[in-house]
Parts: sequence; structure tokens; C-alpha cells
Amino acid sequence: MVKAIVGANWGDEGKGKITDMMAQEADIIVRFQGGANAGHTIVNSYGKFALHTMPSGVFYDHTTSIIGSGVAFNVPKFFEELNELIKRGVPMPRLLISDRAQIVMPYHILFDQYEEERLGKASFGSTKSGIAPFYSDKYAKIGFQVSELFDDAYLKEKLLRVLEAKNITLKYLYHKDTLDAEAIYQELLSYRDMLKPYVCDTSAYLWQAIQEGKNILLEGQLGSLKDPDHGIYPMVTSSSTLAGYGSVGAGIPPYEIKQIIAVCKAYSSAVGAGAFVSEIFGDEADELRQRGGDGGEFGATTGRPRRMGWYDCVASRYGCRIQGATDVAFTVLDVLGYLDEIPVCVAYEIDGEIVRDFPPTVKLEKAKPVLKRLPGWKCDIRGIRTYEELPENCRHYIEFVEEQLGFPITMISNGPGRDDIIYRNK
Ligand code: GDP
Repeated sequence: MVKAIVGANWGDEGKGKITDMMAQEADIIVRFQGGANAGHTIVNSYGKFALHTMPSGVFYDHTTSIIGSGVAFNVPKFFEELNELIKRGVPMPRLLISDRAQIVMPYHILFDQYEEERLGKASFGSTKSGIAPFYSDKYAKIGFQVSELFDDAYLKEKLLRVLEAKNITLKYLYHKDTLDAEAIYQELLSYRDMLKPYVCDTSAYLWQAIQEGKNILLEGQLGSLKDPDHGIYPMVTSSSTLAGYGSVGAGIPPYEIKQIIAVCKAYSSAVGAGAFVSEIFGDEADELRQRGGDGGEFGATTGRPRRMGWYDCVASRYGCRIQGATDVAFTVLDVLGYLDEIPVCVAYEIDGEIVRDFPPTVKLEKAKPVLKRLPGWKCDIRGIRTYEELPENCRHYIEFVEEQLGFPITMISNGPGRDDIIYRNK
């Protein structure tokens, strides 16, 4: 059975924690898109980890972790993370890397920096991990698949051809030093040696695993609203963040994905620029940011403070729908225990009209939040393990959100740890 764990918001919903938790019952965990530009924070018996490229299943010795072909694969980052895990006492995970995955080239990272510099105030707030230049090259058909590293003559010829164009852009658009083909070639050869033990046809492996009835988790990065087709374009990421893309990026049949868990945070946060209708500012935002997540809402990759906002029913309903949620995991609910009243965005006002369907970006930019205030529960709900034990106002908040979403909230996360979870049978 294949399950997808994906974000219904702007990312940072707590997917890593849900994946780590569900990985207890899984045989295989697959990363199917994105790169080292975002991170999952996972707290378990080995400590607290920020994973950027590793699938969240790497802490278990019964799971195989896969880098699918849809990933922007940063080789040095991957090994840095692997070494860190080993150093901190995590047993060597079983890892497989798709021979069709493409490699983030050293120059992708440079181009990401240079383009953001060039754009200045109009920049995208990129994490400068090379993701946009990587996917641009992939679709321009000048990317490098892992398998190409193993053919010297092919690799060298292609590298020279690609660098010719890159160097013209570097010289004339960015006014920067040009690239040395031999140095990059040598770097790619070092990647090859590191990767060799892990590379295989992962879609064939997954096909076989599906035939054998294995439990497979597809782990998404970021969330619905950062999807290039359905998100807040152009302030989106460069690969699809949707469960539907899980079948493409992992290389499995779409009809095999039987459960889609849309992870939704009990309030909103976002990184980077872009419309964020329920955003809050000043002391109100600072307080939520400090109390949020596990030790504050600061980027797992960059450490930058996240933008904060109240729960947005319009964005989340859309986020769940576009994911095709069969289940909603409602996370970080414990954080809201300090509030007397909890504002929730139930609609947008755009040019005097009340709107309940998430609009495209040009309209979204003009939207103002319509807020409803729900009573708070004013206590710490961490440690509670059954739905009935939650304070009444807390259950009311969950049920109100569930009704607004129109998708069943079957899991409630009330702390960062693996066991901080309340299941609801729906
Ligand atoms: P991801 O990329 O979707 O996995 O999200 P992040 O890891 O960036 O952000 C989630 C943060 O919230 C992490 O620091 C988690 O440890 C933490 N977290 C996850 N679930 C909960 C929860 O239910 N309560 C609290 N307080 N923190 C949580």
C-alpha cells in the first residue's frame, strides 16, 4: 500500500514528524520532489535533526529510504547529512538513489545567488540552494542524470556543451567569473564514487515492492501553495509539491496511492515572499513565532524567521483539495494553548466581495482576511492521547476547522515527538 504525506499549506506543517511517526509501520520511504531548499525537523530518541535531502525514514533500521527521480539531488549535502547521522549514533540507513535522479550542479547554486542579486528587491527570497536553476535546466534538457556520471566520454562532451552557454550568461549577464570545465568534471567524478553503492533503478524496485504488498510512504516537501501550477505563482517552488506528482517523482502507478495525508498546521507560517492573506505582524506575530513549532518558527535550512498568520480556512481547504486529501493531520495544535481567543480566517474580501475559493495570485494580492474568533482553551494539551480528553474549546476548534475544510481530520499532533499524536476514527 502506498501512502503520501504532503503539505496542505506553505510548507513547514510538520510533515517530517508525521513521516517519522508513520515510518514505524513502513518498509520504504521515498522523497519524490524538491531539494535541499527546505528541511524537516525531526525529534526522536537520537536527538533533534534537520533533514534537507534525507527521507525522514532514515532513523529506522527496518526501512529503505529512496531518493526518487523527481528530486533535485544535491550530492555533497546528502553525504554531509548522512555523515552527521552516523556521527550522532544513528545506524547506517539503507539508501537507494534513482539512476534517473538529476544532480544539482555546483553552478546551479551560483546561478541562484547571482539571479537573486540581479533581481534585487524583486527577488524571490530563494534559499539559494540552486533549485530554480536546477529545474530550469532539467526542463531545458541540459540537466545531468545520476546515470550519466558513469559514462566518462558522454559526461565530458555534454559538460563542455552545457558550460559554453552557462559561461556566456555568467560573463555577460552577471559579470562573474566563468566556470572551469575540468574542475567541475573532477567534482562530478568524486560524486560518482560516493554514489556508486546506492544507485539503482528505484522505480523497478518500487514496482516489485508494490507487488509484494510492502508499505510505502511518499514524502512531500513544502506544501500545496508552493506548487508551481496550483500555488501562489510565481512565489512558488520549482517542482510540484502535490501527491499526484508523487507517482511521477517516485515512478509508480498513480492508482497505487491509496491514502493521501494532507498535513495542515493549526496556524499559518510561510517563508519567502508572496501573498499571505492571514498574516499577522508586530508583537502578535512575534509571540506566535517564539512559541511556534518546537523552539520557534525559524527556517530549518536558513534560520530566518518565518512569516506568521492565523489559520486560513480558504487556503487550507484549497490546499487539501488540490492534494486530494483522504486524511488531514492537524499539527502543532498545542502551541495555541496560550490564547484567550483564536482568530481564524474564514473568507477573503476582494474588492468588496466575499470569496471562499482560493483565487489566483493577482486576485490574492488584493484579498483581506475575514476573521472569526473562536474561544481558546488556555491550557497545555501536550501529553493528551485521546480525543475525548482534549478540552472542549480545543475540540470545538478542531471540529470548526474540519467543517470548513470538508476533509476529515484523523490525526491531531500535540507535540513534536513521535508519540505526541491523537488518532480520530472517522
Ligand atoms: P516540515 O518541513 O513540514 O516537516 O516542517 P518543519 O520541520 O519545518 O516544522 C515543523 C516544526 O514543528 C518542527 O520543529 C517540528 O519538530 C515541530 N512540530 C511538529 N509537530 C508538532 C506539534 O504537534 N507540536 C509542536 N509544538 N511542534 C511540532
